Amino acid sequence: MAQLLITGGAGFIGSHTALVLLEAGHSLVVLDNFQNSSPESLRRVQELAGPEAAAKLRVVEGDIRSAADLEEALGSSTDAVVHFAGLKAVGESVAKPLAYWDVNVCGSRQLLAAMQRAGCRTLVFSSSATLYGIPDVVPIPESAPVQPINPYGHSKAAVERMLSDLAASEPGWRIACLRYFNPVGAHPSGRLGEDPNGIPNNLFPFVSQVAVGRRNRLSVFGGDWPTPDGSGVRDYIHVMDLAEGHRAAVDVLLAEDPQLLTLNLGSGQGHSVLEVVAAFEAASGQAVPYEVVARRPGDAATTVADPSLAAELLRWRTQRGLSQMCRDGWAWQSANPQGYAS
Ligand code: NAD
Ligand code: UDP
Repeated sequence: MAQLLITGGAGFIGSHTALVLLEAGHSLVVLDNFQNSSPESLRRVQELAGPEAAAKLRVVEGDIRSAADLEEALGSSTDAVVHFAGLKAVGESVAKPLAYWDVNVCGSRQLLAAMQRAGCRTLVFSSSATLYGIPDVVPIPESAPVQPINPYGHSKAAVERMLSDLAASEPGWRIACLRYFNPVGAHPSGRLGEDPNGIPNNLFPFVSQVAVGRRNRLSVFGGDWPTPDGSGVRDYIHVMDLAEGHRAAVDVLLAEDPQLLTLNLGSGQGHSVLEVVAAFEAASGQAVPYEVVARRPGDAATTVADPSLAAELLRWRTQRGLSQMCRDGWAWQSANPQGYAS
């Protein structure tokens, strides 16, 4: 079993992954500044993991841009880092590009330098399908051009570039860049889930908040896309499948020769906005009123992963479909209508 550093481990994807990694027997240090999360998520991870595994989780409140915080979190015996910490809102990245280059790019550079100093050369990086921009080919293979269309996407592409330059510069690096499609849902217990600040930008948390009565209605961004029902199509992936993909990536990196992997994590299955609304209504028993409005600038009609490379190299594929994403998302939202502050 390995000693792992999880940056951003209190966040949405990080907390679910921390639980899966603890359950797999690993020891974890979570480094998080809680700027978009709550320590409560980690308390619940410990509660779900049980006392024995919970004792293997140490929390360091700190920033990935701080060499001192990184040194404290890494120590001298970290086998691998899973790097989630970062900023992730597309619209905010357009308004505050320097913040995105600072946290996502400079923060990652600081982390890599600290890993070099600590002698740890194994990293799983949270990349994003957003770096494909408006894709030319769907399903999207990893060989598709990297052509981001916003500062958030540019920051992810820059970190991927930095990682490939680093891997080429010295032997021994084991790196997996995981390009997530659309992570949604929650732990089936309803104890962990997504807790966005303010008005959600993403479809799934918005729909959940309409269902629970926090918002009046969903705006469907465009009804005239070239898709079967005219609404946008995405590849939604259950956050527990995503967490299990990270466990597989850690296992593969630690077991195999040094390598740089770049992999899509998605289901290969597309669902439209209106399908998500219908599935959420069915799972929750609540109405989700909506109105179709203008398209959102920068949106693609359809983004769906070609997940075959991850299936081959990680021996991992998604297990959970849209109805389970909605069921588990509703278990979280209905039990925690105000998120971790409920
Ligand atoms: P999140 O905001 O819930 O989690 C990110 C965590 O990082 C938070 O706990 C936050 O407090 C922490 N953090 C932010 N800046 C930090 C800093 N400077 N130092 C230390 N900690 C810091 O986001 P998430 O949805 O869990 O996403 C995790 C990663 O996955 C991000 O890198 C994101 O870009 C990437 N990603 C997310 C999605 C998605 O739709 N959620 C899709 C593709 C990629
Ligand atoms: N969407 C929508 N209303 C919303 C938020 C999103 O209709 O309030 C649509 C959006 O146009 C896209 C899909 O839902 O077709 C997924 O959007 P999200 O922002 O969740 O993910 P991304 O566009 O980044 O893949």
